Amino acid sequence: MNYHVLTLFPDMVMQGMNTSIIGRAMEKGLLGLEAVDIREFSKNKHKKVDDYPYGGGAGLVMQAEPVYLAYESIAAGMEKKPRVIYMTPQGQVFNQKLAVELAKEEELIFLCGHYEGIDERVLEEIVTDNVSIGDYVLTGGELAAMVMIDAISRHVPGVLNNEESAQFDSFHDNLLEYPQYSRPEEWRGKRVPEVLLSGHHGKVDEWRRQQSLKRTLERRPDLLEGAKLDKKDEEFLRGLKK
Ligand code: SAM
Repeated sequence: MNYHVLTLFPDMVMQGMNTSIIGRAMEKGLLGLEAVDIREFSKNKHKKVDDYPYGGGAGLVMQAEPVYLAYESIAAGMEKKPRVIYMTPQGQVFNQKLAVELAKEEELIFLCGHYEGIDERVLEEIVTDNVSIGDYVLTGGELAAMVMIDAISRHVPGVLNNEESAQFDSFHDNLLEYPQYSRPEEWRGKRVPEVLLSGHHGKVDEWRRQQSLKRTLERRPDLLEGAKLDKKDEEFLRGLKK
């Protein structure tokens, strides 16, 4: 997977992504990441990339041409037109399903806005997906793109080792993950649930499934509608609701 981030703050993106699991995957060559500085494509002698909005109003708008040239510098070398994701509070809200879908792509371009956003005409020309990371407004798209890159990368084969597998993560099968415990067995008077110390794999699996269902019912009941539940799960949930 190769990520290309069009941004006014390339250092922020590169420095933000080069540690831990994502950094290790980049070193191994499983992920490629380049941050393309939109300012480099300004024809203005002061490298200006923004101007006042037509019609008046507050703030500045990023101009179309430098954004287009930055996009072209990457897309021109690609065999097929890549998906171009514009980070915007006006887009569909990012979720695990979209992360899994995007992880299947070979190349992804992220476009990060700043100020009041980007001239609509270039967005119409190059953007394939408008994506938001939540119903609030950030100062720029960089953090949002980094959130997406992190979440997508967990689904690129080889990025997680077996122990870190995404298979049991929250949102897999539309359920939240069960609670986790580590050593010591007792911490400040609180013991680890006995079943986890029993060494009985069948019972541990059953307990985890039930905790997953309970937690989802308590914290995100909306997810249960899309979850694959068998008769035993449904019976367990009915018991909890009573
Ligand atoms: N005036 C714009 C509006 O109301 O839609 C908001 C512009 S915001 C201050 C500047 C940039 O931050 C946006 O162009 C976008 O790239 C990014 N951004 C802000 N909130 C975001 C969110 N929730 N998700 C993704 N990107 C966001």
